[in-house]
Amino acid sequence: MSDLVNHIRQVIRDVNDFPKPGIVFKDITPVLADPDLCVSVAHELKEYWIHHEVDGVIGIESRGFIFGMQMAQQLGVPFIPVRKAGKLPYRTIRHAYELEYGSAEMEIHIDAVAEGHNIVIHDDLLATGGTAVAAAELVEKSGGHVAGFSFLVELESLNGRLKVQNYCGNIHSIIHY
Ligand code: AMP
Repeated sequence: MSDLVNHIRQVIRDVNDFPKPGIVFKDITPVLADPDLCVSVAHELKEYWIHHEVDGVIGIESRGFIFGMQMAQQLGVPFIPVRKAGKLPYRTIRHAYELEYGSAEMEIHIDAVAEGHNIVIHDDLLATGGTAVAAAELVEKSGGHVAGFSFLVELESLNGRLKVQNYCGNIHSIIHY
């Protein structure tokens, strides 16, 4: 295991029973509190994609904005926010998806993804994959291609990888639990 992976694993904090009983929340705020570590994380995330054809990076609200924006800047491509319904100001494309209890909707601006563009989808964490799949649906509805998925953390036991690989098998996660 690399020094970086060890370092991140040491600082990510497990918060039991948040936001509801039975969930172990992987709190990345201690990573964000360490500026040198943030530089290393952004570098590691970017390095994976540097030799791929990438025309834009989506960050999923809200923790996906943090490193997604840095990846986009370092790759020299647009950062594209995907947000919960009702938050983006301009005209949007919407996708509804099922959660464990109930449903949710995500949106993207109609002009955020150009026809045929290759888009990497970034979020802080991959759990069941529902959120990343919603972002992938928005890319495809916009006329773009999903070039891959990028996560700081992947919770392997929840098998999100099996869902997202229906859109693209190029999946990069720094930390696996
Ligand atoms: P999912 O759609 O199940 O893959 O859930 C991924 C989204 O929910 C990401 O935006 C994560 O930030 C958040 N999330 C889900 N489970 C956790 C967890 N155990 N710890 C931290 N964030 C989580």
